[in-house]
Amino acid sequence: MRNKDFKYFPLVISAPSGGGKSAVRDRLLKKDSRFRFSITCTTRKKRKGEINGRDYFFVSESGFKSLIKSGKLLEWAKVHGNYYGTPARSVERILDKGFIPVMTIDVKGAASVRKRFPHAVTVFLLPPGLNALEARLKKRGESIESVKVRIATAMKEIERSYEFDYAVINDKLENAVKDIIGIVSAESMKVERNAGCIYEFKKQLQR
Ligand code: ADP
Ligand code: 5GP
Repeated sequence: MRNKDFKYFPLVISAPSGGGKSAVRDRLLKKDSRFRFSITCTTRKKRKGEINGRDYFFVSESGFKSLIKSGKLLEWAKVHGNYYGTPARSVERILDKGFIPVMTIDVKGAASVRKRFPHAVTVFLLPPGLNALEARLKKRGESIESVKVRIATAMKEIERSYEFDYAVINDKLENAVKDIIGIVSAESMKVERNAGCIYEFKKQLQR
């Protein structure tokens, strides 16, 4: 296992629904080979264009409950009436291989991940404003009712943005992605994440 608890850290991205987590994540994965998507499980219905095993593992409610019972989930939450949860093994496998798991999860899930991985890097993605958020939700095909529910939830989520390490505004997608790449690069160069190579060099100097 490669220094799982430090050098290779999970990247958690939360945002209100429609804030751009999936769009940013997809672009991030295309642009930078350090990242791997940590696919999560959900009981919600597939949206148009979504694929089982690529976007989510779509499971039944009873299937999800047995995952909880067997302790296979690193964290889980009920969001907008559906269950969502991260299989612990998928995050661990990505870290073991020396990649950065990208976790696009809700604010409660982010808090649970931080407990299990205190060295995780957490980013709260903000839409440029309420009008843009509404427009993006509608563009995605959410009903008027669903937009209302998501905006009401956004009010609660924004209160928890202060728990995150970074706030990134998702105005132009490309800029938000660049900002996150910058954050991850700076984080990975932190002295405490590089204790191993510093120690190795020190040993060579002492020879
Ligand atoms: P989330 O995963 O946070 O719920 P999505 O990634 O599904 O949000 O984004 C919601 C909608 O907004 C999608 O149709 C997406 O293509 C669009 N979108 C995301 N980011 C931007 C952006 N920077 N500019 C314009 N549209 C965007
Ligand atoms: P959506 O249905 O729009 O894809 O996702 C709804 C919300 O659930 C989003 O905030 C999304 O990030 C969150 N979510 C997706 N997967 C998980 C997960 O495994 N755990 C938690 N806690 N939230 C998740």
